[in-house]
Amino acid sequence: MKVLKSVAEVRQWRKAHDEVAFVPTMGNLHAGHLSLVAEAKRRCENVIVSIFVNPLQFGEGEDLDSYPRTIEADMEKLESAGVSALFLPTEEILYGEDAPFLVVPPKSLIGELCGSDRPGHFEGVATVVTKFFNIVTPTYACFGKKDYQQLKVIEALVAALNFDIKIIPVDIEREESGLALSSRNGYLSDEERQQATKISEVLKVLRENLLALDPASRPENYHAYENEARTILEREGFVVDYLSIREQKTLQLATQKDQHLVVLVAAKCGKTRLLDNIEINY
Ligand code: AMP
Repeated sequence: MKVLKSVAEVRQWRKAHDEVAFVPTMGNLHAGHLSLVAEAKRRCENVIVSIFVNPLQFGEGEDLDSYPRTIEADMEKLESAGVSALFLPTEEILYGEDAPFLVVPPKSLIGELCGSDRPGHFEGVATVVTKFFNIVTPTYACFGKKDYQQLKVIEALVAALNFDIKIIPVDIEREESGLALSSRNGYLSDEERQQATKISEVLKVLRENLLALDPASRPENYHAYENEARTILEREGFVVDYLSIREQKTLQLATQKDQHLVVLVAAKCGKTRLLDNIEINY
């Protein structure tokens, strides 16, 4: 695996290959990241992964400084997974000294959910991903459904800014307990880890209940279902930032006519904010 540190090195590596697949990450790699790499490998032989903890997408008081950095272990995992190149830029290389140019997604996509809970977050994500896309110019780029709103922002970004890149969405990788893998799970105590499994349990039950509904009795809106699921999580000790049933493509609140729904949840387990979601296709 080649370790590339500068923009010029990435461009030179890129020139030698017809098609490349790209997997951007913030490191502390787990099986979720590796499932993105496996999906990338299925598309083409040359896979490039980036590891960069992007300060621009962290808000004040968030975990930028404590975010887990495990570069040696990450490199071993990427080697074993057959990754061709690792892009490891520094903050200085990506942003320099000047105030960054920002890529600002439309409010319809980032005005709610994580966008309103974390002001500036998706501007930071869209900006760094735009830079990576211009540097790497990949044929394919893989993103996890774990960060569902982020995936929608990236899909919209590629369409709006005419990137010639095929975005590959990848399903959520979970522990046997159902807990969605995340670098932030490392912050959980044993007890919290146990509690955290309730999120996916609640999502699964909600999906079963909705799929069991006779089509004629689907509700006008899903507020009652959202409130019930939220209450269960609150009783389990979570502080629920949102639990919302949305249409998969637009992320607007789901209504009776929608066939493809996604239940999105962000909830704090102790101090750790966890994200999860489940798709429902009638
Ligand atoms: P991160 O390092 O957290 O920025 O994540 C990098 C990429 O991995 C993003 O596209 C995430 O959506 C994806 N990802 C993180 N956790 C998972 C998971 N459990 N399953 C699938 N993809 C994931």
